[in-house]
Amino acid sequence: VLSSSRDFDFFYFVQQWPPSYCDTKRSCCYPTTGKPAEDFSIHGLWPNREDGTWPQNCESNSPFEESEVSDLLDKMEKDWPSLSCPSSDGVRFWTHEWEKHGTCSLLNQHKYFETSLKLKEKANLLQVLKDAEIEPKNGKFYSVETIKDAIEKGIGYTPFIECNVDPSRNHQLYQVYLCVDSSATDFIQCPVFPRGRCGSKIEFPSFSSSSHDEF
Ligand code: 5GP
Ligand code: 5GP
Ligand code: 5GP
Repeated sequence: VLSSSRDFDFFYFVQQWPPSYCDTKRSCCYPTTGKPAEDFSIHGLWPNREDGTWPQNCESNSPFEESEVSDLLDKMEKDWPSLSCPSSDGVRFWTHEWEKHGTCSLLNQHKYFETSLKLKEKANLLQVLKDAEIEPKNGKFYSVETIKDAIEKGIGYTPFIECNVDPSRNHQLYQVYLCVDSSATDFIQCPVFPRGRCGSKIEFPSFSSSSHDEF
């Protein structure tokens, strides 16, 4: 039977920083349900192996069904918005994440989305950073170590920080990866980190004004 045995060791729980997704050459499109709050949002919960590889698209016959998550939709719109263009209500993004990663998770659809929403509540990254006086502000730069240390102190585990680049080629905080045990209940130390590194000083941009019109 497809997907009945576990072909991964842990999950990456990946949260994105919407202002950084939008502040690139490609730009972004706000969801049809409205501009997202200035908060981290969910990208996905990704099964991964300790050797750094991962399974994906584990079941071809398991389409995303909105009706299976109807009780979660309000929260998904708020905490898991899609910022890609053209504007959407999120269903395409959720479909993509479910089909690519969720079908390998051994969780059913409802549990996959419910678990992800719960993990975001458990890891309040924006608050943890604010507690360390790291706040979104255009034109201000932080070392990656400072950001990692703040998250480690607040959550208890070392994150992986992924950066992207704005149109002026500043490096900025784009995604935060935390690791979760294979039953998707608790955060754990990451057995392996993704590849890639940020610049030494990175921006944590704000939505409120873009870097070019601020000054
Ligand atoms: P990118 O090329 O932007 O790093 O990744 C493209 C896609 O590949 C991601 O959206 C995600 O679906 C998948 N991916 C990238 N890196 C990882 C990883 O380390 N683990 C898993 N499970 N998926 C990944
Ligand atoms: P990279 O070579 O930078 O690790 O990965 C480039 C792209 O190849 C990733 O974004 C991802 O789409 C794909 N990729 C790399 N390693 C894996 C893997 O172990 N499994 C899968 N499914 N895709 C991978
Ligand atoms: P991945 O394959 O890396 O898990 O997911 C990335 C895919 O989801 C891309 O095809 C991307 O266009 C789409 N997508 C839709 N909305 C978003 C969003 O808000 N953030 C990211 N990172 N990808 C999104």
